Amino acid sequence: MAVFTHIVYLISAIFFIIGLKYLGSPKTARKGNLLSMLGMLIAIVVTLLDKQILDFTYIIAGLIVGAAIGAYAARTVEMTAMPQMVALFNGFGGAASALVAYSEYIRAGATMSIDISITLVLSLLIGVVTFVGSVVAYAKLQGLITGAPVTFPGQKFANGVLVVAALILGGLFVYDPSVETFLLVIIGLATILGITFVIPIGGADMPVVISLLNSYSGLAAAMTGFVLSNNVLIISGALVGASGIILTKIMCKAMNRSLANVLFGAVGTDGGGGSGAKRDKLEVTQYTAEDAAVVFEGAQSVIIVPGYGLAVAQAQHVLHELTQLLMKKGIQVRYAIHPVAGRMPGHMNVLLAEANVPYDMLYEMDQINDEFQNTDVALVIGANDVINPAARSQKDSPLYGMPILNADKARTIMIIKRSLSPGFAGVDNDLFYDPKTMMLFGDAKDMLTELVKEVKEL
Ligand code: NDP
Repeated sequence: MAVFTHIVYLISAIFFIIGLKYLGSPKTARKGNLLSMLGMLIAIVVTLLDKQILDFTYIIAGLIVGAAIGAYAARTVEMTAMPQMVALFNGFGGAASALVAYSEYIRAGATMSIDISITLVLSLLIGVVTFVGSVVAYAKLQGLITGAPVTFPGQKFANGVLVVAALILGGLFVYDPSVETFLLVIIGLATILGITFVIPIGGADMPVVISLLNSYSGLAAAMTGFVLSNNVLIISGALVGASGIILTKIMCKAMNRSLANVLFGAVGTDGGGGSGAKRDKLEVTQYTAEDAAVVFEGAQSVIIVPGYGLAVAQAQHVLHELTQLLMKKGIQVRYAIHPVAGRMPGHMNVLLAEANVPYDMLYEMDQINDEFQNTDVALVIGANDVINPAARSQKDSPLYGMPILNADKARTIMIIKRSLSPGFAGVDNDLFYDPKTMMLFGDAKDMLTELVKEVKEL
């Protein structure tokens, strides 16, 4: 049985790795998800059969309740609430690792060897920080607590003291595993650390933190794998840990921020206040859907730039309808996807996939940026920071250095948004005042619906 189990574990690990590879592109992501799920399913089944841990009644009851809650949550979650749902998933992963590790301590008691006790301490510490940090991230994004950074003097120092104290206690526990109190105090310290680690981070930076916590949940699982001597848990935990940290790095790079700046910079408010007041003296020209339709009539090529506002307005379906109408009129239509458009990685891809936009119409920034200069219309919908030219030239701007989509290079730029308010970074956008720009003020769904009507009448 042991050999069979290890072979099945190896097969699951292969499924996870190929699944991750497929998740790297929107075209193959569904297949990747399916493969990884299959890998996890066979790993769970073979573990249960091999170990015969508990009465199956409990396990089946747990499976039914868990699957029902998971299926309901996945079906009903709003696309814009996806980051907080991922936060909860990570948190539960961390909690599960910590609970399993602790139950192993209850089972094995003080007889555990040094390597097991070390990994037990790490599993508890990382698992509890992940759980509590993820719950705080969820609460911030859900608006249950303030999304603004909460800071106090000496915060970093206090966090450092908490980490050091937890590690010292961990060392004492490894020295004498019969003292359970060490573990309980570590859990207490990790709970405080989970809170103080996440509260100073602005609500809008949460997706980066969630990705980091995702990596931590993987580390906690890998540590628990060592506690249980379970290879598939070690492998899957390590894969989650590594991919989470890679994603965190990609997100920071695309925002032109360092991880330290995200974690300790206390940047960001609830998602961009501001009023555009600084630009009051500049002229903004407001246009109607009818004006825009006339421009489309003379256009041969359009690049659509989707952003966070498209997700807020849930306008992806009507946008797809508009693109189909334009294409029927012989206009070339492509989508330009900025890596951090929206509020989570792949946000725009998922949103557009929901409306069945074909993958071959989506272009990454590097693929399409040179095309804007030969394009008649850049149609920007609910995007702001990802097209802000300040990122190229204004050294004092928080966006400076972030690669942007060259929407400003198109012959005409149409921007659909409700006002002159800034986006996530909280900075004004000179592109709104460019003579080539047509501002179409309104909710993206309403404006696109009007636009569809007007284009149909052409
Ligand atoms: P922005 O946040 O820059 O701008 C979004 C714009 O959408 C706002 O200016 C808002 O203007 C408009 N908007 C909001 N609701 C609607 C609506 N119902 N209809 C029409 N427009 C609407 O979004 P971008 O996508 O351009 O940029 C993403 C930003 O988020 C970047 O700064 C990025 O660094 C950051 N970020 C991204 C993450 C990711 O993983 N993708 C993670 C964390 C941060 P108005 O109120 O006037 O309508």
